[in-house]
Amino acid sequence: MATKSEILIVGGGVAGLALATRLGETLGKRGEARITLIDKSFSHVWKPMLHCFAAGTVQNENNRISFMSQASRHYFDFWPGEVIAVDRQNRKAVLGPVRSSDGSVALEERTVEYDALVLAIGSCANDFGTPGVAEHCLFIDNLVEANGFNEKFRLELLKAFAANKELDIAIVGGGATGTQLAAELHKALDLVRLYSFERNPPRLKLTLLEAGARILPAFPEQVSEAARRQLEHINVEVRTSAQVSGADAGGFMLKDGSYVPATLRVWAAGVKAPSVTTRFGGLSLNRSGQVIVTPNLRSVDDERIFAMGDCSFISDEPLPPTAQVARQQAHHLARHLPAFIRNGTDVPQCVFRNKGAIVALGDYNGWGTLPGGTVFGGGMFKGLSARVGHLMLYRQHQVELYGLYRGLLSCLADWIDALVQPSIRLD
Ligand SMILES: Cc1cc2nc3c(=O)[nH]c(=O)nc-3n(C[C@H](O)[C@H](O)[C@H](O)COP(=O)(O)OP(=O)(O)OC[C@H]3O[C@@H](n4cnc5c(N)ncnc54)[C@H](O)[C@@H]3O)c2cc1C
Repeated sequence: MATKSEILIVGGGVAGLALATRLGETLGKRGEARITLIDKSFSHVWKPMLHCFAAGTVQNENNRISFMSQASRHYFDFWPGEVIAVDRQNRKAVLGPVRSSDGSVALEERTVEYDALVLAIGSCANDFGTPGVAEHCLFIDNLVEANGFNEKFRLELLKAFAANKELDIAIVGGGATGTQLAAELHKALDLVRLYSFERNPPRLKLTLLEAGARILPAFPEQVSEAARRQLEHINVEVRTSAQVSGADAGGFMLKDGSYVPATLRVWAAGVKAPSVTTRFGGLSLNRSGQVIVTPNLRSVDDERIFAMGDCSFISDEPLPPTAQVARQQAHHLARHLPAFIRNGTDVPQCVFRNKGAIVALGDYNGWGTLPGGTVFGGGMFKGLSARVGHLMLYRQHQVELYGLYRGLLSCLADWIDALVQPSIRLD
């Protein structure tokens, strides 16, 4: 390999930004390789918080990390742009043009060369081709969509309030995203009452539709049951075994023939890789479009291409699309890519260590599971400790990226901000 190797990381999410930061501190700082991160946006957000941004219960302005600033502090380069194809023969990633808000082209389409390419472009919800969903539903897969949802939510709430009606929202998908979003929207309504509407508060009718037999299927049954009871306690209607057959401008059609009317329709079910993976030079993909990798995270077709996080799939040992998996895989590559770059040493197998899972329903309740003999089958904790644990995952992520001092300062800044700013997004 050339003396100054080019390592290109596509996607600065949970996995990609952690890897770029760590490799920058090792290979980049010593000038042994050039580390370049590419992302279609200019800043990083902690994706597990998107439902809070969508509900407006957390302000996203304070919770973004600028890629440029992170790159300048940690010895890697950042280029904005959406990767639209990979030319494997010539070892180049093709970036689409970067446009300004008026649509004019700020940066033309271009290519970036690599010696090693790491794909970390995440995932999005999967509508499985259900008719009407793409046209009539909102998604919260990224910050732009979460902000778009929030704007619609605030305006529809205002309209419903003016007409003295309740606002009906239906969410498809009883996994962590849909379940947490339902609770967070309810919390938003609780908070908005503090600022206005005191005499006649707006009303919300929330319906959570899940095709399976229970919500939160990745958790033990006790957690699913407790979460269901908690949601019903705050008046969220939870419908399990509810298979959606279509969506239109007024609601969802179910396979049993019933219709769920909803002014706002959210699709938060299924996981698939972004469709661009089909333009990655014929890399093997699974049915969800995820790049098939060996247990050492290398593409089964190309020894210079690695994939990690939600966009990757290990056939022998499929792992859930979670932040915990993405983070551990990034740490693994950060540890072993330097030897691969220096002398071609193979990256060893990445062994996933399940550290448990946590889900938080707004300020209402939370549950955590600790690993036991089986996945998510060990001990359990709930209530405040689970809610704090959920928050600590984000704080840990901040500290990892910022370093201890800046990470703690950033937590302090958030707490001060919470004393000054409204506790919900109002504009
Ligand atoms: C609402 C919500 C709640 C969640 N809650 C939890 C939770 O409580 N616990 C948990 O473990 N997991 C949770 N998850 C899942 C978790 O967020 C993901 O598993 C994790 O973010 C995956 O990390 P990643 O690095 O693979 O992808 P991401 O973090 O999604 O990052 C992908 C990055 O790639 C960029 N990108 C995409 N396409 C391109 C392209 N073509 N060119 C350039 N850049 C591109 C994106 O801009 C993004 O920055 C939640 C997800 C959602 C949506």
